[in-house]
Amino acid sequence: MAPRKNWIGIQIGVISFVDEGVHSVLDSLQERANVGALLISTPSWSRGNAGRGTDWFPEHGVAEPDNLQGGAYTTIHPKYYNNTIIKEFNAPDPAYQGYDVFANVIPEAKKRGMTVYANYCETAGNEIKPLWVPNIVHILERDAWGRTAARVCLNHPDYRAWVLSYYEDIIRSYPIDGICWGIERRSPLFNMAEGDVPTCFCPHCRRLAHERGVDVEAAIRGYEAFEAYFRNARAGHAPDGYFVEFMRLWFQHPAVMDWEKFWLDSHTSLYQEVYGTVKWLNPKLDVGLHIWQLIDTYHPFLRAQYDLKTLERCADWVKPVHYHDAAGFRFNRIVQSFTKTFLGDFTPQEATQFLYKILKLNEAPFDELPKAGFSAGYIRQRTEEMVRRYGGKVRVYPGLGVGVQGVGGPQNKQITPQSMREAVRASYEGGADGLLLSRNYSETKLENLAAIGQALRELGIGDTIPDGISQVKIESAGESAAAEGSDRVF
Ligand SMILES: [Zn+2]
Repeated sequence: MAPRKNWIGIQIGVISFVDEGVHSVLDSLQERANVGALLISTPSWSRGNAGRGTDWFPEHGVAEPDNLQGGAYTTIHPKYYNNTIIKEFNAPDPAYQGYDVFANVIPEAKKRGMTVYANYCETAGNEIKPLWVPNIVHILERDAWGRTAARVCLNHPDYRAWVLSYYEDIIRSYPIDGICWGIERRSPLFNMAEGDVPTCFCPHCRRLAHERGVDVEAAIRGYEAFEAYFRNARAGHAPDGYFVEFMRLWFQHPAVMDWEKFWLDSHTSLYQEVYGTVKWLNPKLDVGLHIWQLIDTYHPFLRAQYDLKTLERCADWVKPVHYHDAAGFRFNRIVQSFTKTFLGDFTPQEATQFLYKILKLNEAPFDELPKAGFSAGYIRQRTEEMVRRYGGKVRVYPGLGVGVQGVGGPQNKQITPQSMREAVRASYEGGADGLLLSRNYSETKLENLAAIGQALRELGIGDTIPDGISQVKIESAGESAAAEGSDRVF
């Protein structure tokens, strides 16, 4: 598929089609924001990606919580699931009984020239969301002490088979145009830094790690040492210094680093397996990867762990999450967490400046962050970085936070039409190949959606622009926008 600067996608949960009707939703998306690609959450157990809001609602949809349980919103064809014990995972919520989202949406989308993707984001929370799925208890992770933990194990053969089975099912059963997916998980060490347990030490993970020469027992001893460090640090006890004591354990327990690398490689290999399988089923399908904001933006250790260049082998395009309005509140919370452990030698104010330096960010001081959010300049800088990294081999569709609940309340930076217009311009000035409007249509105010459309028109990027738009001249488009009295900020 040729690069298209006017690829405008939106993440959308099935609840919006159920609540508002397919025609009405597609009219709204096309007319307001020139949306051409629907990224429909299936499967999804995530309220944020697939449900309504919980305590706040925009002016469309149904204004009451749906208490999403979640699962698949398509028809499950049992013949594809012989190699996995996970066979029954249709969303049990009453709203979706008898509703097949692809059967309902794809014909109408095709009539309008829109493309349809299956979107699956395995979110970071460790609450036990999909526990209702029969047999899931057998594929859950084990922590370093042998206890069953809360997420599914990425190395469990039944989990990996289930992922491939679902993609085979929907690719053979529906004329979809592609998939987007991603996993939001911290490695064991940085889960521990957030008070979670180190995983996964199930028999499958132990065997695979052993086969590649990792000393499993030494790794467990190392994680135990880190667990004591994090516990003491949170209690304010690090006599040799918070950072020095943290780094000392890295040298004393190199098996932990081996295990962290093994954990990361397990993820990457699943990305590659999915990519190869989708392409084998249909080489024309478009495969996108969701890149968590913690990896791309906030966390120096996660940024160091993930060499995003490796994603070239398992994606046609990437969606780096650039939710800039919400980023101020979120980064403020992250700095508070870091300064309780490995950055405990710093005040949050000092740590913020230190992190800005090493993460190549330049945003508001710590105390002002929730109200200020991150700037649109952040989107431009991170997009430029991503485009440079991939050198045209992978398309870059920045994920713009046009509808994201949970920015901490009305006193914090809100998503506004102006912030959305700035985000669109910044993305294209950074060299974006398109935009992925996120996180969920059900949380999006229509005026913010319309601001996306306005910004695209100001930039001369619309549905009348043919492929080959890569030569679009952002500067001249901006000049004409400025001449019309636009509030152009760059
Ligand atoms: Zn495991």
